[in-house]
Amino acid sequence: MSLLRHFVNGEFVATPTTFDNVSPIDGRTLGQVCEADAALVDRAVAAAKAAQEGPWAGYSASQRADVLLRIAEGIERRFEDFVAAEVADTGRPVHQARTLDIARGVHNFRTFAELIRQAGGEYYEMRTADGSDVFSYTVRKPHGVVAIISPWNLPMLLLTWKVAPALACGNSVVVKPSEDSPSSATLLAEVMQEAGVPAGVFNLIHGFGPNSAGEFLTRHPDVDAITFTGESRTGATIMKAAAEGVREVSFELGGKNAAVVFADCDFDAAVAGVLRSSFTNSGQVCLCSERVYVERPIYERFVAALKEGAEKLKIGYPDEDGVNMGSLISHKHRDKVLEYFELARREGATVVSGGGIPQFGDIRDNGAYVQPTIWTGLSDDARCVREEVFGPVCHVAPFDRDDEVIRRVNDSAYGLATAIWTTNLKRAHKVSRQLRVGMVWVNTWFLRDLRTPFGGARLSGLGREGGRHSLDFYSEATTVCVNA
Ligand code: NAD
Repeated sequence: MSLLRHFVNGEFVATPTTFDNVSPIDGRTLGQVCEADAALVDRAVAAAKAAQEGPWAGYSASQRADVLLRIAEGIERRFEDFVAAEVADTGRPVHQARTLDIARGVHNFRTFAELIRQAGGEYYEMRTADGSDVFSYTVRKPHGVVAIISPWNLPMLLLTWKVAPALACGNSVVVKPSEDSPSSATLLAEVMQEAGVPAGVFNLIHGFGPNSAGEFLTRHPDVDAITFTGESRTGATIMKAAAEGVREVSFELGGKNAAVVFADCDFDAAVAGVLRSSFTNSGQVCLCSERVYVERPIYERFVAALKEGAEKLKIGYPDEDGVNMGSLISHKHRDKVLEYFELARREGATVVSGGGIPQFGDIRDNGAYVQPTIWTGLSDDARCVREEVFGPVCHVAPFDRDDEVIRRVNDSAYGLATAIWTTNLKRAHKVSRQLRVGMVWVNTWFLRDLRTPFGGARLSGLGREGGRHSLDFYSEATTVCVNA
């Protein structure tokens, strides 16, 4: 059985305490994962700090870009190993791991290689009262040691989204992937070794959050900046840890995203779009739509079409032909989703579709599957309409006026993303500007140009990453002011 180890100072390292890596597909134990103790976290941070004084410090931006390209090539060479690792940990369909997760991992490194090669600084001229000419310019420097804490829902995509720009800017990193999806990050460490990344620049530690690797890392005084993707509550805890020492933070947190379907939409495209935005990755994408608002004239027809579509989704083994949905990440997470299924009934929901566990009659009955689920009939203040479930579920409600739906979409503690479906672009622009979210999609969903800012408002996060926003977060600007 496999043992996943940490990667510190260019070497794989084991620690005595381990935990099980359990398959959500059929409940089998896939292997063991080492859990980092405080001493190992110390070693990883010390290695990252020392790397800031080593050869890495002398790499030009262009040389760092070359390293990123070698990492991208390394992932491509072992593409199918990454796909297999991601699928085994998470139960997602193989075609999704190929076209989304691992492909985006490669793309993240290529994008930030290009961006750092082209990144410039700021330059200004002015004349003082006594007639001197003054020019000022900025120099981009790394923060030093960046801690990267990532979740299980899109493990490779979200980890590389942060590792790539952090390394592009010259930092060294200590990454802690989720305890539920440790495998692709461990493969990435092998790729780092093969790509000749200097020792200590990329360090990987495994473990849990509280009183484990995550907490030891985020509390460590030699960590200069923390970037985190995960639950809003965890973000708040990490923010307290980061306050000690006034470290920089970037947070990509939870969501309770809406889809707004206007009566003038392309009906079939909107149905297909909402099926995707509600059920992709079994609803475990921070951007998934759990609240769907449909303009009243097409409401009944839309709910019927959504039900038909959801009931056609094929749930099954990751490599089955035509499979659309795999398992949830774990039994623990399924228990949480099933509690919401139960709560929705208590809150008076009509269960239009799903609401339970699919029966397979084989070993998958030991897995962590749930049915794609559609609710109607809940009030706007029901907990199931306000709280993030993070499963394949949406609540569909009718609306009558644009100002009404804008108010209802904005009436949320979260503010991550909204998808709008309409053929009236004037209306789309007008509504988009009034939504208090970080991202609005019009007639699409989860389509990303990586140069654009990404992040959320309120409980959905702090700061923006993407393109130059990532370069700004992962670097420290020094202004040089010259009296010529
Ligand atoms: P989580 O917060 O439970 O865990 C995320 C990571 O934080 C894990 O590696 C975990 O071990 C670590 N962690 C937990 N407690 C910690 C602590 N006290 N100190 C340090 N580290 C700690 O989140 P999850 O369940 O893995 O992921 C799902 C959540 O992530 C959802 O809320 C989802 O919306 C959110 N998410 C947001 C985005 C975004 O871009 N906004 C993207 C993906 C997922």
